[in-house]
Amino acid sequence: MPKQVVVLGATGSIGCSTLDVIAQHPGEFQVLALTGGLRVDVLFRQCVSFKPRFAAVLQEKDASELQRQLKDAGLSTQVLAGEQAFCDLAAHPDADIVMAAIVGAAGLLPTLAAVKQGKTVLLANKEALVMSGELFIDAVKQHQATLLPIDSEHNAIFQCLPADLQAHSYQSDLQKAGIAKILLTGSGGPFRQKPLAEFAAITPEQAVAHPNWSMGRKISVDSATMMNKGLEFIEARWLFNCQPRDIEVVIHPQSIIHSMVQYSDGSVIAQLGNPDMRTPIAHALAFPKRIATTVKPLNFFEVPVFSFEKPDPSRYPCLFLAIEACGAGQGATTALNAANELAVDAFLAGRIPFTSIAEVNAATLSQFTHHQATQLQDILAVDQAARRHAEQLLRTMHA
Ligand code: NAD
Ligand code: MG
Repeated sequence: MPKQVVVLGATGSIGCSTLDVIAQHPGEFQVLALTGGLRVDVLFRQCVSFKPRFAAVLQEKDASELQRQLKDAGLSTQVLAGEQAFCDLAAHPDADIVMAAIVGAAGLLPTLAAVKQGKTVLLANKEALVMSGELFIDAVKQHQATLLPIDSEHNAIFQCLPADLQAHSYQSDLQKAGIAKILLTGSGGPFRQKPLAEFAAITPEQAVAHPNWSMGRKISVDSATMMNKGLEFIEARWLFNCQPRDIEVVIHPQSIIHSMVQYSDGSVIAQLGNPDMRTPIAHALAFPKRIATTVKPLNFFEVPVFSFEKPDPSRYPCLFLAIEACGAGQGATTALNAANELAVDAFLAGRIPFTSIAEVNAATLSQFTHHQATQLQDILAVDQAARRHAEQLLRTMHA
């Protein structure tokens, strides 16, 4: 029997790559439901190809239009609308695997809904874990969900862990497993060598043009500021049950090594491959089996020289804000994530310069460093309060 898959955020970069892998393995996976935010035309084409039982979009009017189009095309897919529909589909009794690939805080409740039904959750939506850390992991434990990382770095770390730690990596005892350090690699983004004096003039088009990876706009800007690595630092803290001192960020501009685990005997185990998200997606979809993808095999006679650098705080202030927030606690990471979402949106909309992203993030974080948030309603309240704070800052900057 093929596994039934729900793809949340199907119309995005990760969603499309997921469907690409599924299309190659029709005997292994069947699409139960597809959800998208606003790109209804893309969702329509995906429904025609994969014939899911359900589809969902954000707006009611888009849902009726999509329903009409699908009916005309002879499909019986049932179309739903709104956040509750995303949650219901993520928790559907027939779903085996849920790909959590909505971008940002909007993914939290649907992803948690899948966790609470004990699903196999493939986590791309790092913001959900950054926002809710302990609560999220507690829910995974309580409902015996299977949590598999899609983020290429975390998927790499997962693959480098001893096999007996993998199934419950979030309960790892790193010391007992002989692990000295998690080495989180990042490319350094498109501005690794740009003179700092030119940062204020960076345009959205320059910021979303990542040298190695093709991704959605928000994560591309996060990669340029290295806030992405900061969010991943917090994500690793929860996925592998480690402390900030256990994680080291290493810039590796070629993006061939996707992350590493350093053991206390001096061994370092790394996962390598061409930078293509279909590899971690295929790994998690089929885990613990391996399935083929069309990813170009790594040819060592063609790869460039590997190099490594230490991240510079004056070039990547957002990375260091995230590391600070990780040490401070849940209120801090939730607030920083919220501020960053607004700041990145404002930058992409041309409201603020690139350098103001870090300013909004730093000013918001400083207001919320000591906020504690353990229950879901506290987390959502901090998220909302931090958004209001950041919006206020953006208004004064824009004025
Ligand atoms: P994207 O912008 O390409 O796609 C986002 C998806 O979320 C789309 O389907 C969109 O319709 C949906 N969406 C947006 N707002 C929504 C809302 N309010 N409600 C419901 N759905 C909504 O983003 P992406 O690059 O595919 O990234 C998705 C997630 O995966 C992010 O959390 C990102 O950090 C993570 N991730 C992405 C990559 C990558 O290579 N793209 C790598 C690692 C992790
Ligand atoms: Mg990543």
